Amino acid sequence: MEERVTEGPADTTEGRAGAKPRAARELTRRVMVGGVPVGGGASVSVQSMCTTKTSDPAATLSQIRGLAAEGCEIIRVAIPNAGALDGFGEVCAMSPLPVVADIHFDHRLAIEACRRGAAALRINPGNIGSFERVDAVIEEAGSASIPIRIGVNAGSLDREVDQRRDLSLPQKLVASAEAFVRHFEERGFRDVVLSAKAHSVPTTLATYRELSRRLPHVPLHVGVTEAGTLRQGTVKNCAGVGILLEQGIGDTLRLSLTADPVEEVRVAWDLLSALGMRRLHPELVSCPTCGRCQVDLIGMAERVSERLQGVEAPISVAVMGCVVNGPGEARDADLGVACGRGQGLLFQNGEPIRKVPEGQIVDELFREIEERYGSKA
Ligand code: SF4
Repeated sequence: MEERVTEGPADTTEGRAGAKPRAARELTRRVMVGGVPVGGGASVSVQSMCTTKTSDPAATLSQIRGLAAEGCEIIRVAIPNAGALDGFGEVCAMSPLPVVADIHFDHRLAIEACRRGAAALRINPGNIGSFERVDAVIEEAGSASIPIRIGVNAGSLDREVDQRRDLSLPQKLVASAEAFVRHFEERGFRDVVLSAKAHSVPTTLATYRELSRRLPHVPLHVGVTEAGTLRQGTVKNCAGVGILLEQGIGDTLRLSLTADPVEEVRVAWDLLSALGMRRLHPELVSCPTCGRCQVDLIGMAERVSERLQGVEAPISVAVMGCVVNGPGEARDADLGVACGRGQGLLFQNGEPIRKVPEGQIVDELFREIEERYGSKA
């Protein structure tokens, strides 16, 4: 898939006098999840998680392929019990994406997942039971040369930290995460990615900012967890993750939604595109309409948005309500239309191409798009 990489977000870390300041994500250590680089200035990668069971490898692989087609780059699957390991090896062998095994409580599952082809593990060391068991996982992952994501979660903090009354929730998450990272590093295991998730946006921001400050070398997996269904979850993730990314924090992301995981991937790309960091799909620029508009612009924009799903090139397409401000407001769009009474003016990069009757605007716009950029079909 073609990707458009545009100007990144503002950098926040202090550089030497006269030197360009470097974003926090450029300072993290690079870890490879399969063939996908995470950290060390790599592009922020998009992750999601299967809702299928690995004991049904056909269903799981089908879902992974669908997510890959939407731009997912790393996929995670749950391994809740020994039965989940049955199809896991087949999933790893056939998956077009690196597969991360998500394991809680039972370190033996993590060890076995390493042996069956996991590209990475995700564990919460706080619920593995003991450091001896965590160390056994570290040793196996080291032998398999795969990274481990230390995934701390506000809902499952280890008991000792959780009971401390002197710490706020972000401080508990940071204390827990930092202790785990130090433990891994003391054992010589450095292929670590870190997450410390909460459902609250302010908690997420405070936690990740502090993690980035205290552990600047550790790549961060960012996301707002248990964020809710499509609309609320999108808002919470885009607020929390968007602010962090804009501040240079975050090396890979998963935007948790109570929805089809395809939506997580779509929203993730929309967020990266909105931040000017990465664009994989076409972007629609459409005005909010006002008293100057003389067409059904909302209906037209929805039809254009739907048909843009059939276009692979990461272009921007503008649908504007009037010729007074339309082309000027959407000068950066690759192609667009500015509507007037009974007709639309097609334009490219703000310059007029030709006028078309109102009833043919969408078809003519797509004739121009497909001539220049083709379609998926
Ligand atoms: Fe109003 Fe025209 Fe601007 Fe749309 S492009 S908001 S119709 S002035």
